[in-house]
Amino acid sequence: MKKFITVFLIISIIMAMLVPTTLYAGIGDVIGYAKYTDISAYINHYPITSYNINDYTVVVAEDLRNYGFDVVWDGNSRTLSITRNELATEIAPYGRVYKYSSVAGRESVPYVATDIKTYVYGNFVESFNINGQTCIYIDSLAPYGKVAWVPEVRAIKLWLEGLPMKAYEPLTEAPVTIMYAPDGRTLVVENSEVEAYKNVGWFENKSDVTAVLVSSDKRRIEVYKAEVEAYIAQGWTPVQANTIDPAKPMVAVTFDDGPKPATTNRILDTLEFYNACATFFVLGSLAEGNAGVLLKMKELGCQIGNHTYDHPQLTKLSSQKISSQLGRTSEIIANITGANPTAIRPPYGAYNKTVSSVAGAPLILWSIDTLDWKSRNANSVIDAVMSKVKDGDIILMHDIYNSTATAAETIIPALIQRGFQLVTVDELAYYKNKPMSPGSAYSQIR
Ligand code: ZN
Repeated sequence: MKKFITVFLIISIIMAMLVPTTLYAGIGDVIGYAKYTDISAYINHYPITSYNINDYTVVVAEDLRNYGFDVVWDGNSRTLSITRNELATEIAPYGRVYKYSSVAGRESVPYVATDIKTYVYGNFVESFNINGQTCIYIDSLAPYGKVAWVPEVRAIKLWLEGLPMKAYEPLTEAPVTIMYAPDGRTLVVENSEVEAYKNVGWFENKSDVTAVLVSSDKRRIEVYKAEVEAYIAQGWTPVQANTIDPAKPMVAVTFDDGPKPATTNRILDTLEFYNACATFFVLGSLAEGNAGVLLKMKELGCQIGNHTYDHPQLTKLSSQKISSQLGRTSEIIANITGANPTAIRPPYGAYNKTVSSVAGAPLILWSIDTLDWKSRNANSVIDAVMSKVKDGDIILMHDIYNSTATAAETIIPALIQRGFQLVTVDELAYYKNKPMSPGSAYSQIR
């Protein structure tokens, strides 16, 4: 017998006393006793493991646990409980399955719990221990009842021998949903129960209970959230989650003056690797020759903003020329991506009333200036961000320098590890519930 293997049921069929032959099952099949439901049906087509001990087929409860059950035999009360999360499912006479809240207790109406003794009307069933697990002899139940598994509700039921089948009230086949727990358990619940399970930590989508982590040598794994801390302790880094939690800190990383394929693509690769996004304020003059880079930005969920056609200081231009700088760039971006940019970054952060009045979109400034154009030093850029960053910051960088692309390889995972969600400028305004107006300037959104 293997250690750590827990045992749930023993199936043993003892034929009539006059026939001293004991037949036992392969994988839970009860041979020669067709009216017994076989164990393989219990788990609704999932393969389970069994082995034989002293002529009994033992089913490995670990298999049931994998599908969301806790199986416990209470020797004192002689109660078999198959528990899923906070609800317990027990077996009542006549095959009805009752549930009760373990918190509210057994008195909880309308759920009624019964112990195995009830099945057999006062007769005790036999049990024994293997490696600390209590196993029940099915043949000790056999004189009193039949055992079956109801896959629709994933519960075991028993009903009494000799009763007409009409005494067994099959449970309605309610539509079911598979739910997931952060520790990897899965559960099939009736659709009407989904909300209740969500309230106690279950999720409808597997992606809600998993996280992707990466290693320094660029390996990538997906694990259940319950395992994440252990992986971080081993040096893995989490990537950004697929969904943004408005209650958690977030920042908008922005890059100006590109696209410049050699460096912009490096930054895009880093964003993609960590499942993050940023906002690129592009120049129309560079965008028109680099459609592929813009399409990649769009594909990664990045925002593309307008940084004018060729980087003039807008405050020195007539309103007509400002319009032309912005309009021409919007058209180029729209021709490539199919959408007009919804944010403008005026070169040098310079704007006045004229700029505001013709902009037609919010003016996005910054709260953290990395001065990457000046230092051209990755460490200094990293320090500029990581020493100051806080919730709602807009971080200014330029995607045209190798030193900035190098810094981004550190900054992006470091922000995620520190608990920041990397969002676009539009997302920042959306999740902070701070709608932006055309022509108004924003240097952070908190
Ligand atoms: Zn610029």
